[in-house]
Amino acid sequence: MATATAPVKPARPQIHQTQLFIGGQWVPAMSGKTFDTINPATEEVIAQVAEGDAADVDAAVHAARQAFDEGPWPRMDARERGRIMFRLADLIEAEIGELAALEALDNGKPVSDARTGDIPFALDTLRYYAGWADKIHGQTIPINGNYFCYTRREPVGVAGQVIPWNFPISMVSWKWGPALAAGCTIVMKPAEQTPLTCLRLARLAQKAGVPDGVINVVPGFGPTAGAAIVKHPGIDKVAFTGSGETAQIIMRQAADQLKRLTFELGGKSPNIVFADADLDAAAVGAHVGIYLNQGQCCCAGSRLFVEDKIHGQFVERVVEMSRKRKVGDPFDPATEQGPQVDKAQFDKIMGYIESGKREGATCATGGKRVGDRGFFIEPTVFTNVKDEMAIAREEIFGPVLSVLKFSDMDELIRRANATNFGLAAGVWTRDVARAHEVAKRLRAGTVWVNCYDVFDAAAPFGGFKQSGFGRELGERGLDPYLETKTVTVSLK
Ligand code: ADP
Repeated sequence: MATATAPVKPARPQIHQTQLFIGGQWVPAMSGKTFDTINPATEEVIAQVAEGDAADVDAAVHAARQAFDEGPWPRMDARERGRIMFRLADLIEAEIGELAALEALDNGKPVSDARTGDIPFALDTLRYYAGWADKIHGQTIPINGNYFCYTRREPVGVAGQVIPWNFPISMVSWKWGPALAAGCTIVMKPAEQTPLTCLRLARLAQKAGVPDGVINVVPGFGPTAGAAIVKHPGIDKVAFTGSGETAQIIMRQAADQLKRLTFELGGKSPNIVFADADLDAAAVGAHVGIYLNQGQCCCAGSRLFVEDKIHGQFVERVVEMSRKRKVGDPFDPATEQGPQVDKAQFDKIMGYIESGKREGATCATGGKRVGDRGFFIEPTVFTNVKDEMAIAREEIFGPVLSVLKFSDMDELIRRANATNFGLAAGVWTRDVARAHEVAKRLRAGTVWVNCYDVFDAAAPFGGFKQSGFGRELGERGLDPYLETKTVTVSLK
């Protein structure tokens, strides 16, 4: 008979990979430089990681170019590519405990989140795209005249992939999945805050049978390694997830070569609660919508619009839940919220909390640092927020919720859309017609109705407006990694 056992605190993971992964080899940076990666829960150095720069990126692009132009990956039977990707997912799954611990150590997220959320989603994404590998095909097109016209979908080439630190393993799967299925080769730069799990995944990819040179990983900093990827003429396409400011730099730098670009950027997503909603569910949705991943989500429901009729009672629930949220050691299985990823993020968030107070919003709960070591911040709720305040307009990327009151539908839609962002939105109501109307009128790439943060490998995700362009996940997520070639054959 099975007996229930309390989840145990995982052991500190071993650090195996700290070098660059280029052409199937683990190598130091040519400069010999390394950088520290920090445990955000303790501020201690976890490991020194090789610091790649332009010279290393050049070597990585050379390896990826050769693997694309001459290697087996784009040429092998597509089904075999899929099989290797399935094997990679199996190898990741076999190490799920160790990987979750490594993710928690480097990023600060609760180990239970990594184990039950991030990594299962990454597995799903890799397997979803593994299934696509042999289903990427063109069309036959009836054109005028006596011709046979068809299209082929061909890999775009070498993909440069620059990812952020908030979901390191998931981001790898979102980027590698479609690129590998399409037959592309890859030069990836993980974020300088969280290089460790990406390097571990590269080792597993090699073990799974991904040929040398197909996946190259160059940890390092944005203005050096990242910029070198963007500018390198051997890279055909850049996929970037991160801040809008960096995306603007990338777009300018990629302009000379007219590189293909996809961007997944920030948000200031409205999460809208009508008075007729299931308020228990909506309160959970408001809570998860803002606090998931320490608030470090591009789609965080950071503007909570509450209908005036229920405003007081609903805010009370949200505040009460915020107070009960367990903040602490990411390795404790009971922890719900770990530290912010680094000092820069911590300082930025504390600055927004100060600005909210200064501008006259009411800090209903939270607002302070937790402890004196590590980058922990209390779950924070601001009420009496006005649309023009910085905390209602700018992306905070932390556990800080701004509550706004509304009474009229048209006014609500106008205010919800009055932002340069357009990544996601939530709406809570029992009125089906209203739910669909709001879903239609919101200018956002994803609208969740009576739910929030429901992601699926098959459902496209990406931004309207300055939240980015191109889509990741789903069939649409393959498009940026494919060129369409039209072949026209005279039958005369
Ligand atoms: P965040 O503020 O979330 O750290 P960034 O946009 O600064 O977002 O970083 C996201 C990723 O982009 C990281 O891997 C970072 O190193 C990289 N990056 C930063 N600046 C540049 C740049 N100029 N060119 C290319 N990549 C960059």
